Amino acid sequence: MLLRPATLVAVAAAVAGCSSPAPVAPSAPPTLREGAAVMAVAELGSALVQHRTTGEPAVDDAVAGARALGVTVEAVRFVDEDPAVTATLPRGRFAAVADVAWRVDGFDRASAHAEVTVLLEQRDGATHVVGFGGGSRPDPLWLSGHLAVRRTPGVVVAGADASIVDRTVPLARRAVAEVGAVLGHPVRMVVEIPVTSAGLDRELGADEGRYAAIAAVTTYVGKDAGPRTPVHVFVNPQVFGGLSPSGAQLVMTHETTHLATDAVHAKSPLWLLEGYADHVALRDTTLPLTRTAGQIGAQVRKEGVPKELPAATAFDAHASHLGAVYEAAWRICEVLAAERGEATLLELYRRTAAGEPVGGVLHALYGFGEEELTRRWQDDLRRIAALPHRGR
Ligand SMILES: [Zn+2]
Repeated sequence: MLLRPATLVAVAAAVAGCSSPAPVAPSAPPTLREGAAVMAVAELGSALVQHRTTGEPAVDDAVAGARALGVTVEAVRFVDEDPAVTATLPRGRFAAVADVAWRVDGFDRASAHAEVTVLLEQRDGATHVVGFGGGSRPDPLWLSGHLAVRRTPGVVVAGADASIVDRTVPLARRAVAEVGAVLGHPVRMVVEIPVTSAGLDRELGADEGRYAAIAAVTTYVGKDAGPRTPVHVFVNPQVFGGLSPSGAQLVMTHETTHLATDAVHAKSPLWLLEGYADHVALRDTTLPLTRTAGQIGAQVRKEGVPKELPAATAFDAHASHLGAVYEAAWRICEVLAAERGEATLLELYRRTAAGEPVGGVLHALYGFGEEELTRRWQDDLRRIAALPHRGR
């Protein structure tokens, strides 16, 4: 799965309406002492920038996470209090918004930026950093500390659970090799694995449940979506961990293809971006078409062939028949690869990624446009649907 900037925008829940008169509070709640909060966040920033422990457990955990992943923190700056998040916290705790800039050394070409929620506690006349996260802001994995990090040439895999990190490393290494061989250049990649699906939502600053059904996503780190903003692969361990070895490899190579082809910035239609990622991931598969295209085959037997190439909305994580849509997109790329080979398919990808309309590039490279491609693809799907299969 691929996440492009337009879909990264977190939708703020609008809370409106009137309420009945509130009972008189026994005492006014404490308020955040902003000067002290600015100082506490500045001290956090100084500790992170210098990788220096302070004796505050939450700060030291974050420093440990930054050290483990090889994160250079460039700046941490207090922005404001977030009263809506503060209202959900125990008395005496406050949510501050801090602007953080960081990069993973040796991998990220530029810094990621995000407004991060820093949890503060006022006690004993002092203000302490006690945690991070909340308010639908990105919660970087390394801030929570205690990371298992495995480095191999070109690949770093980081996660809170060492066993899933260890299981992911060979998949990521193989993915980088497979994708590099097709694209003809080396691939470097950071894979981040939060401990749960909800942790993935929090890390990406997404609404709860947004990534519950997806195995992995390739997207920007932090909040920016600029041309040099780092892009990493983020894994949902609760889905990914349940996949077969071949299924997990397919997902990893698919995501690595997105990363290595800069799909987040590509202007190509989604059927080409997603279909190409599966084309690379399934290039050497020995699985039969009844497995790799089983869902679209069943759909065609039931409803006939799709009338048009899949629209962008069909790839939404919440769309129905998502598996069939991905298989269908993959078959478009297989039809094209069978027609003119690997290099021409990659050229179609690159030229459309740069903004050329797909119809024109198809004509230039293949001698036919989307209509003829649709016809050939429908024939391919009919052939797959007619293969001997098990079940209904
Ligand atoms: Zn994808």
